[in-house]
Amino acid sequence: MQTSLFTKILNKEIPSDIIYEDDFVFAINDINPIAPVHILIIPKEQIPTINDIVSGNEFIMGKIILAAKHIAKEKGISDSGYRLIFNCNADGGQTVYHIHCHLLGGKKLG
Ligand code: AMP
Repeated sequence: MQTSLFTKILNKEIPSDIIYEDDFVFAINDINPIAPVHILIIPKEQIPTINDIVSGNEFIMGKIILAAKHIAKEKGISDSGYRLIFNCNADGGQTVYHIHCHLLGGKKLG
């Protein structure tokens, strides 16, 4: 498997501000935000697409959601609301083949 863009960011081979990190996931601001808050929550394990999720990945998927909840609270958008999105493959709009959850908020989303 090729090293993904996000693994390169995690390994500091590509510069980016890591705004959250624990043992299992990390988060960065999206370079091309489509909302006032647009953060990517990414597992440290490089899993290419949601199709590659297997039984045994429940824990890491749960950690992604827990990190999203935590970051939303820190950003002050818990009560106003936000959206979590996973894109899968070309028709789903996926461009980086290392699963990630988009956390979008800070405005009324259409
Ligand atoms: P997706 O289209 O769901 O695969 O999402 C990939 C996201 O990664 C897009 O929203 C991009 O704007 C974002 N992105 C690409 N390169 C970078 C980067 N170097 N730092 C932060 N976000 C990035």
